[in-house]
Order: sequence, then C-alpha cells, then structure tokens
Amino acid sequence: MATATFPVKPGKLLIGGRWQEAASGKTFETVNPATEEVIAQIAFGDERDADAAVAAARKAFEEKPWGTMAAADRGKIVWRIGELVLKYADELAYLETIDVGKPIAESRNIDIPMVAEVFQYYAGWATKIQGETIPVRGNFFNYTLREPLGVVAAITPWNFPLLLASWKIAPALAAGNAVILKPSRQTPLTALKLGELMQEAGLPDGAFNVLTGAGSGAGMALVRHPGVDKIAFTGETSTGQAIMREAAATVKKLSLELGGKSPNVVLADADLDAAARGAVAGIFYNKGEVCAAGSRLLVQAAAHDELVAKVVERAKKMVPGDPLDPKTRMGPVASKDQFEKVLGYCAAGKQEGAELKLGGERAVVGAGRGYYVQPTIFDGVENRMKIAREEIFGPVLSVLTFGDEEDAVAKANDTCYGLAAAVWTRDVKKAHRVARRLKAGTVWVNTYNYYDPASPFGGYKQSGFGRELGQHALEQYTQVKSVWIDLNA
Ligand code: NAD
Repeated sequence: MATATFPVKPGKLLIGGRWQEAASGKTFETVNPATEEVIAQIAFGDERDADAAVAAARKAFEEKPWGTMAAADRGKIVWRIGELVLKYADELAYLETIDVGKPIAESRNIDIPMVAEVFQYYAGWATKIQGETIPVRGNFFNYTLREPLGVVAAITPWNFPLLLASWKIAPALAAGNAVILKPSRQTPLTALKLGELMQEAGLPDGAFNVLTGAGSGAGMALVRHPGVDKIAFTGETSTGQAIMREAAATVKKLSLELGGKSPNVVLADADLDAAARGAVAGIFYNKGEVCAAGSRLLVQAAAHDELVAKVVERAKKMVPGDPLDPKTRMGPVASKDQFEKVLGYCAAGKQEGAELKLGGERAVVGAGRGYYVQPTIFDGVENRMKIAREEIFGPVLSVLTFGDEEDAVAKANDTCYGLAAAVWTRDVKKAHRVARRLKAGTVWVNTYNYYDPASPFGGYKQSGFGRELGQHALEQYTQVKSVWIDLNA
C-alpha cells in the first residue's frame, strides 16, 4: 500500500498562540534527505524571537488560565494532545519521514504511537504530583509543595524529532510549566504540526511555543535567557558542554541527554540467533541514528565466528530504500553533513586496520540521489580505534572480541559514555552480574532498544544527567518547597 502524502506549509513561529514570521523576516530550508530536495521554508527565529517566546511563556505560566488551572483539567488537555497525535498519526509520520529519512514503517508504527503514549502516560501524573507532611522536631506543622519550575525550554535533536520532544513536553506540561520547543534546524516539521495540535487540544496561548532557528542563535538565546528556568536538552555531548557553560551565568536547571557508544555484549552461551537479531536491530534501527545504538558489538571469542556470520547475513537484508515505501527498513541518513561524517568514519575504520565485513560505502538507491549509506560492519576492532571510541551516529557496527566476563565488563565500560548497554546470555546469574557492572543508564538483557513511557532513560558518565520518562522525569520539571507553620499557642 502506498503511503499517504500531505501538503507541507511554510513554517512560522508559534509564540503566545499566534503564528508569526521571524522578527528578521528570514527563513531557512528544510531538506528531504531521500531526494535532496527542499521541502519548505521555515521561519529563522533569533534572539528577538526568543525574547518574545519567553515573555509569552512567562505570561502563560504566571496568569490565568494556565497558571491557575486545576491539575485534573491540565491532565485532560495533556491526554487530549495524545488523542490528537493519534488522529493525525499518518500526517505526523509522513512529515517525520520526509524530514529525517526515517522509514515510514518506523515513524507510523513506532515513533508516533509512542508520542501519543507519552502524553497519555503523563496526563495521568498531573493529579498525582504531590507533597508530603514531615515529622519535624518542635511544635510545627511542616509540609512540602511540589511546584512547577516555570518556563522550560526544550532543545531537541533531529534523530527522533517528535518523540524526544514529547519526552520533555509531556512531563513539563503535566507538571504545570510553560514550554518553548526549539527543534533541530534539520527537522522542524513535526514540531510545527504539534503546535497546531496543542491549539486544537485547547492548551492556553503561550503554554506551548515553537521557536525554529539555529542552535547557536535561537537555541543559545534560550540558554542565556534569565526568563528561562530550565533547559531540557538532547543532543551531542559537545553541545551539552557548551550549554552547561552558558547556563552557569543564570544557574539554570539542566537535564542533558547526550551521546553514546553503547556496548552490546554477547556471551558464548547466548542464543546466537536472537543475539544476531538484536545486534542488527541495535545498530541499524533508524539507520544507526539512535543515541543508544548498540554500536560496539562485544563477542566472546568462542562465539565470535558464528555470531559475526549470522549478523552479516541479517545485515545484508537491510537494503537501503525509499523511506516512504512501507516495506523499507533502512532509509537515508538525515543530512549531507551526517552522510559525509559517516563515510569519513568508514574510511577511518579501513585506515586503522579494522576488517570490513560489509558495506562501507554510499548506497545507490533509484536514480542515485539521497544520502544513503550501506549497512556497514567492521570486525577485528580494538577499543583504541576511532570507530570504537567516537559516536558515529550512522549504520556502522564495530565488532570487538573478549575472553572472559571480566574482560567483557572492562571493555564495555572503557568509554567516556554510559547511555545504554546490553548483555546476551542464557545464564541468569551472569545476566544479573554483568547488568550490575555495566556503567550505563539502561541495560537490556537478551533484547535491545526497548522503551516505555514508564521506565526511566538517561545517561551515566558523559552521556548526561537527569532522567527522562517515568516518574523520575517529573523531578526534572518540579521543585520542592518546604513550608513551616508554627503551632505554638
Ligand atoms: P546537536 O547537539 O547538534 O543539536 C541538538 C539541538 O541543540 C538542536 O536543536 C540544535 O539546534 C541545538 N543546538 C546546537 N548548538 C546549540 C547551542 N550552542 N546552544 C543551544 N542549542 C544548540 O545534536 P544533533 O546532531 O541534533 O543530535 C544528535 C546527537 O544527539 C547525538 O550525539 C546523539 O547521541 C544525541 N542524542 C542523545 C539522546 C539521549 O537521549 N541521550 C537521544 C537522541 C540523540
């Protein structure tokens, strides 16, 4: 069945409930990575627009109706946003796919339904954010209030544009904050559509604003702005470091979800067919543009040859193709920059002496346009090599070998990152032992890439701090006030 297509409008900024051009009148282009064609012109917001968005968000937060709305009513609106995401799922999936090259089967069946679930999960939390009474010494009544922070700026990347935005927006709104979303310049389309859905859902003006523009312009303006209370950021570790430095001046609250180089550890006793399936899904899902991608496959020596053969066989079936074709499992990488970066790493792998087992080149699809890269597997990789240390963020798997469990844990943890990890084994003791010793915010056992709105996600080490999803994320969007009442007569 062919995928439905939808018209794409030029993108404007959503500020205080009004769709408007950038103050400068400038626009930028968003490009379809499958065709290299310009999809639409988008408003190029800058510092002036950031000021306007902060003022609108502040007003919404401080005043009626958002500032004083009952939690139950807030929850209903957040639930309704989830319903509307499902109502417009075909359009949202189409926009995501043409903007980032993600196969429509992934955007329509996985990303967009999870966006709806995230909103509906947090809708339920709106009425359950509560304080406590504390048995303090003396004749006092002491209790806590858990209050929203105020104005939250969500700065998001291009790999899961709407999904990662929802991870921030849904808990922020459920807790009563006002939000400014600054999507990646490469993928603004679903953020803009979400703005329309927020209005249809009845969210008061200014409670959700969309500020499109450059990271160094509009993004940095939000980071520096004294009227922004918190930055919820997902992106590269180097950008997170820059944000931390700039946020120091206003002691802004931060949550940072950063890069990864996640180890996928296969012990020799594992079900090797399942492990091969997990290894391929772990690195080639969303063309490897996944922060938690299992980009280092660590295999116990005794299982190495068999597992690698199985992984290569499966990877050969990941044939790059038109992302709008529902049968396609691998689309183009997201942009020209990304394409050049990934091919640069393929060249580095060959040059450093890793053994190329599959791919390593541009993939030609149709008439030869589009930023397609072949699924690529390097064997014989050492942890010192660039392709083992640096985040490639593309369909490139590095295979390393280890001797025993000790060696596996040492090699797996030998990275500055700590976002995710997996271990494959039939031995339940080994599974728990290794899961405990892996330094990562998520550990999967005999599976890979599973997420749920209720389960926390975030990084150890330089993969960031703060947790998204689940109850833990609410802590990132609220603050605690301790109230003392003197009961002495
Ligand atoms: P990026 O850091 O280039 O950009 C992310 C966002 O930050 C964009 O909206 C961008 O415009 C903005 N930005 C850039 N420079 C800025 C600045 N100086 N000040 C303020 N904002 C700025 O990242 P990307 O290339 O869009 O995304 C890929 C990266 O994101 C990878 O490193 C990946 O691992 C990471 N990522 C992490 C997670 C996670 O949950 N840990 C999830 C997805 C992606």
